[in-house]
Amino acid sequence: MSRYIVDLRIALFQLNPQIGQLEQNIERSWNLINKFKQRLETQETVKYPQLVVFPEFALTGYSFHSQNEIKPYISITERSPTFQFAQDVSKLFNCYTVIGYPEESMDSKWYNSAMVTDPMGKLAFNYRKSFLYDTEYEWNCQENPHGFQKFPLTFAKCATKLDEDDKSLHDITLTSSIGICMDLNPYKFEAPFNEFEFASFNLNNNVDLTICPMAWLHSKSITNHDHDDDVIVEKKKSLQDDLKSETLPSYGSQNEFQFDLDNNNTTKRISKDDTTINTNYTEMDKPDMSNVNYWLLRFLPFLNLSARKSWYKQMYNEDSENKTYIGMSKHKYWEFEGHNGLLLLNNRCGIEDGKTVFTGSSGIFKLNGSTTRLDNDYETNIDSMNESVDLLGNLGKGLEGVIMRDVQFEVEK
Ligand code: GLN
Repeated sequence: MSRYIVDLRIALFQLNPQIGQLEQNIERSWNLINKFKQRLETQETVKYPQLVVFPEFALTGYSFHSQNEIKPYISITERSPTFQFAQDVSKLFNCYTVIGYPEESMDSKWYNSAMVTDPMGKLAFNYRKSFLYDTEYEWNCQENPHGFQKFPLTFAKCATKLDEDDKSLHDITLTSSIGICMDLNPYKFEAPFNEFEFASFNLNNNVDLTICPMAWLHSKSITNHDHDDDVIVEKKKSLQDDLKSETLPSYGSQNEFQFDLDNNNTTKRISKDDTTINTNYTEMDKPDMSNVNYWLLRFLPFLNLSARKSWYKQMYNEDSENKTYIGMSKHKYWEFEGHNGLLLLNNRCGIEDGKTVFTGSSGIFKLNGSTTRLDNDYETNIDSMNESVDLLGNLGKGLEGVIMRDVQFEVEK
């Protein structure tokens, strides 16, 4: 085993695709990609990203309400327009591309999937969403029969060995996984919150790179979980007011691209209890930090937490074998201590049906595995204040755009 420092350039594209507008969605995406490429080409040394990620159902739109509605957009992976698009992006930048799309399997089952194409444009992996959200049940989407999965991604010449005279660049194979939106939540919103199913899977399997294409909803959305008519009327009005104040159409913002290519533009930490957090659908170029805080909470097994020291003896179950519980393992109160991981949360933006508001805020996070950053070694934060996660940057909640970061992290291989 050797320790390596890996250096990766990663780009996340945030889009607002609308159902029934496949061609326009693809055209606008290319417009953004080409503008991004031009910006890179004006820099002194031109370096393209090695990994590019797009959201869940990135080109088709998300909120399909029946089998008939989704049928024209669902296809066998290799015949999907999304595959053509992913191949072209991979070849353009010589990168891996991860992108969500509606999939029909060879045995005619329907899935919410994300494909990975390699730098040659070949299919490297295909993942199907395991935990489904409300709308998926409306078009008879199936759960991934394999559940969460890990897979290897090999990046060429981007790793150097630590503690050795060998200064040459090595290829590195990262253990990777994909989580599609609801995969981050408790199964059907019914499983115990503390199971942290997806995060625990990643921790148990030593995943280095967690890639999440998402269509995550903003709290202003009106969903099947809103039953009270008065509440619905109130929420509709409140959303209308926000759109009016931002002078936005009912589908949100398109074509006003945000480019965030500055490694120094990190995201400011803010406590989930801070009352100054803006939960309105305003300030399109700023991330929704209530969502960012919630996402990080769902990765609690990867965050330092001093309370584990006292929980450990009482809660850790000897029968758990090699499984972790809220980050605790059989031998360590925090299994992830001293390790590094990357978390890519790539969420779409915009609005569908005039009431399903997506929360954008796509971000790049480094899980640094450190317990020593705080003076008193006493970490109690379960949100973006937790110093064992580096907030490398987030896009705004409502604009299409791209965020790119150069990320350095350690792995043992
Ligand atoms: N729980 C997520 C949300 O509330 C699920 C959405 C999805 O899976 N696309 O946004």
